[in-house]
Amino acid sequence: MNPARPLIIESIGEVCPLLLSLQIERPFVVLDRLAYEASGAHEVLTPFFRQKATEFFTEFELNPKLDDVQRGIEAYRRSHADFTIALGGGTAIDLAKLIGALAMQPDEARDITVGNAPIQNAVKPLMAIPTTAGTGSEATHFAVVYVDGNKYSVAHPSLLPEFAVVDPKLTESLPRSITAATGLDAFCQAIESIWAVNATEESIRYASEAARLAYKNLETAASDPTYQARQAMSRASHLAGKAINITKTTAPHALSYALTSNYGVPHGMAVAVTLAPMLAFNAEVTERDCTDPRGSNAVHQRIAEILRCLECESVEAACGLVRRLLTKLECQPLREICGESDLADLVDSVNAERLLNNPRRASREQLVEVLRSARDG
Ligand code: NAD
Repeated sequence: MNPARPLIIESIGEVCPLLLSLQIERPFVVLDRLAYEASGAHEVLTPFFRQKATEFFTEFELNPKLDDVQRGIEAYRRSHADFTIALGGGTAIDLAKLIGALAMQPDEARDITVGNAPIQNAVKPLMAIPTTAGTGSEATHFAVVYVDGNKYSVAHPSLLPEFAVVDPKLTESLPRSITAATGLDAFCQAIESIWAVNATEESIRYASEAARLAYKNLETAASDPTYQARQAMSRASHLAGKAINITKTTAPHALSYALTSNYGVPHGMAVAVTLAPMLAFNAEVTERDCTDPRGSNAVHQRIAEILRCLECESVEAACGLVRRLLTKLECQPLREICGESDLADLVDSVNAERLLNNPRRASREQLVEVLRSARDG
């Protein structure tokens, strides 16, 4: 993978001159309409889109579904697009990745998304313009899609955008609740990336900076936003994306998907509810249940790095800090979302393979206990 990808553009004002210089004539634009209007991007980009043979794809649900990908592929093929642009949060960006890539393949989108067929043909370039500070999807080579209610992650080097417009001004219109939920996604991605089995020196560098920035700025960005806090969260989100582009995510993400698809919990909040109990769980890793080939000491060192990022002396203090952050961000407590009797079902819906990147092996009973602790804590 080209390490210089994506090329970062720091201001939405630079987009039209770049598109003109690239001689783009037929852009296919996956657009979150609300974000387009609210962020002010429409004022800058609409004149360009009007001059060109632009095809907009705007009718889709939040959190990409296969049906939306399939409709998008039909529209993309009809449009004979020469370039793809995604503007919105992780939903619009992941959809654009999937539509642009899968439209070029001979196999059916369903077969590719569930892993029964490969991405083999070249893909046209994608520019991702995030309007949330959370997913870092503009910096990753994978995309999340729900097929028949089950979550799949399609990964391929060609899904990594060619260009990423990381302009914090585009996030200024985010309401408090979405700033909180999306910012928590960035924060959790950073923490999970540090303890992930796949962590490398490079990924830990990105993730540590992201964790520090998010921890220090998320509350301000949500409750009393300043430009500096928005800027820090945009950077945190992008760096966390770069980190998980190397490591992928771990148990809190694996446990979150059923909370989102069955109970409608916003993605970042669904991930964050198990972060503190999972930190406590992973901190207890021993040689016997360690999944990291570098051994449990290496994991303990990375847990210590997480404590440094959160400026905490102990795991207990860090867990308390995370729980307090969720309260301040007005996350709905898990006990209001599901009952004790639902916890086992939530665990059963997790694909065991996705847990392999967690540094401590977890049995079904231990995962139920993590959820119970998240519920009662
Ligand atoms: P989102 O894209 O679903 O958007 C959430 C809401 O925010 C929407 O209602 C949208 O209209 C609104 N919104 C977006 N920008 C706005 C703005 N500037 N002003 C006002 N409202 C705005 O949310 P998200 O959290 O960015 O993305 C979540 C999706 O991303 C999930 O499907 C998740 O699985 C995926 N994801 C992907 C990756 C990856 O690397 N591919 C990583 C993490 C998450």
